[in-house]
Amino acid sequence: MTELPFRQIHLDFHTSEHIPLVGAEFDAEEFARTLDEARVNSITCFARCHHGLMYYNSKRFPERIHPNLVNRNLLLEQIEACHKHGIRVPIYTTIQWDYYTAVRHPEWRVIGPDGQLSGTKPYEAGFYQDLCVNTPYRDFIWAHVEEMLEMLPVDGFFFDIVKPYDCSCRYCQQGMKEAGLDPTKEADRLAYNKLVLDKFRLELSEFVRERNPDATIFYNAGHIGPFVRESKDAYSHFELESLPSGGWGYMHFPLTARYARNLGLDCVSHTGKFHTSWGDFHSFKNKAALEFECFRMLALNCKCEIGDQLHPSGKIDKYVYELIGSVYSQVEKKEPWCRGAKAVSEIGLLTTEEFTGERVPVATAGAVQMLQEAGHQFEVLDTRSSFDAYRLLILPDGVRLTEAAAAKLDEYVAAGGKLIVTGLSGLNPEGTESALKSLGVRLKDNPQLADDGLPVGGRQVGDFLQYVDYILPREAIGKGLPPTEHAMYIKAVEIEAAPDAEVLADVVASYFDRTWEHFCSHRQTPSSGKVVQPAVVRNGNTIYFAHPIFTLYHKNAPRWCKQLLLNAIELLIGQPLLSHNGPTTVFATVNEQPDANRWVVHLLHYIPERRSQEIDIIEDVIPLYNLEVAVKVPAEVKSVTCVPEMRPLEFELLDGTLRFTLDKVHGHQMIEIAFA
Ligand SMILES: [Zn+2]
Repeated sequence: MTELPFRQIHLDFHTSEHIPLVGAEFDAEEFARTLDEARVNSITCFARCHHGLMYYNSKRFPERIHPNLVNRNLLLEQIEACHKHGIRVPIYTTIQWDYYTAVRHPEWRVIGPDGQLSGTKPYEAGFYQDLCVNTPYRDFIWAHVEEMLEMLPVDGFFFDIVKPYDCSCRYCQQGMKEAGLDPTKEADRLAYNKLVLDKFRLELSEFVRERNPDATIFYNAGHIGPFVRESKDAYSHFELESLPSGGWGYMHFPLTARYARNLGLDCVSHTGKFHTSWGDFHSFKNKAALEFECFRMLALNCKCEIGDQLHPSGKIDKYVYELIGSVYSQVEKKEPWCRGAKAVSEIGLLTTEEFTGERVPVATAGAVQMLQEAGHQFEVLDTRSSFDAYRLLILPDGVRLTEAAAAKLDEYVAAGGKLIVTGLSGLNPEGTESALKSLGVRLKDNPQLADDGLPVGGRQVGDFLQYVDYILPREAIGKGLPPTEHAMYIKAVEIEAAPDAEVLADVVASYFDRTWEHFCSHRQTPSSGKVVQPAVVRNGNTIYFAHPIFTLYHKNAPRWCKQLLLNAIELLIGQPLLSHNGPTTVFATVNEQPDANRWVVHLLHYIPERRSQEIDIIEDVIPLYNLEVAVKVPAEVKSVTCVPEMRPLEFELLDGTLRFTLDKVHGHQMIEIAFA
């Protein structure tokens, strides 16, 4: 496996042809020294940008060299100077966004099913005209990559914008017909596009590796999810682009990282030094936010990468690198406890992305949030993952199951595994019946139907508050909640429990659904007091929730949805791997370094706040005091130490549970648990 450096920069350089004297103030030694002083050990630099212009002395495509590039060896000198300082330089080039090509070769552009060219229109600002890699554009890419391999010292390639698109160009239409697909059907077009992109990635990587077997290779689509499985061999590693202030938010990174780290390749995650997103020149991220984002990467087994953009003059900004250095110097000290570290997890959360294709799948995001707030240790999986390592699996709201996937889960439960299934999860692909035998519930006959002819229960239909009901928890599942009705803003799936299954909570109906003919007050209709069906059902090792509690939590985070879930987890697995007495804003992970015979607990406390219309802000570090932590450990413990400062902690080990107290957590604290 390729092991990536910990402290990386992604140095954007999309530079307009209307800007003069490009690279005129570039000083190779100043460039590399500034990076070195900021403790950077890898920087991705530009061969060609989204304007379609080049920053090396191309012989095959001299017309594409930036017209105002003063130093035609800009990229070469960046690489050579960095190499002298021991800094790697993967090369950036763009694939699907190239303005120069798009305006000269409209026949290579993606054509939507409406016949329109896809992307930025002629009289709008921007270079987002999508190019189709199933056209002769591909030949240009191959020639460009071959030339870079011949002319430049190549550590690796970052191929940007290799993303799904819905294309009806003549090459794609022809290809679909040859593959026996129907180009008039959206599903067929998207399936064909998946084949085109997988083939593109696999063939381009083969071409690169024949010429440079050691080059790292990554294809960026702004996200890593189940779609990478078929072309995983094309990647040397994964880069998780996820700028919290750049449209991804703070929820995306942990979701994608907990999935990507299980695919067997090393991962690095991108944030940015920008206040907002890429291209936000002359802006700065707050230091506390940059710390949180980088340290959270370490806690989730990723290497760090900070996005920056070089000014067209080519002069590196020393103030930006003072900021980056203030964080990367801390990362460098933490690295010995992160190198080769693997997560220790006991819960597997299956992602709904496999079915919805969403970058932040609603139900899964709600589940990630709930589990993190409680300090649970978990991975994000899909139906093709191995389930063996987990004590508990969770299927949030919309995980449909083929016969094979259902059989795999039933076997897992029969072997002692625990399972929580919610809402419409666990149904067969047609959604007509539960595919799982172990669940102890079945769909009711003749459920209430919505206008679209599909059952109302388990999904949002029309107005958010039109179809609601209430959950009435019984004793065990209701711990920490008043024993009364709690609003469920989406109605339960209509189910019946098997006779020997245990009902843990009931569904109480509202008086009526909210329509123009009958409604009550400002929002949802109140409880009628009438119990109509089970809401939560336990059947041995499984617990089923009839409501989509994760979708509800992602929407507006009712605490009772989380409390019900946490109670269900406790009923099934008892004491969790890690617990603490801190607030729900603590982010806690457990990693292991088998070679060093130790575990490393990461505790983070930074609170993003919605201070503006657009983005969440972190400005301050709010310290925590006297945080008590309990960790279930597999062996005798030799020592517990705050690292990297090497401050020993007193601890107590009783019946396999290690307990220690931190007098203070300021931002991020790692605790080494050394085994005897
Ligand atoms: Zn096409």
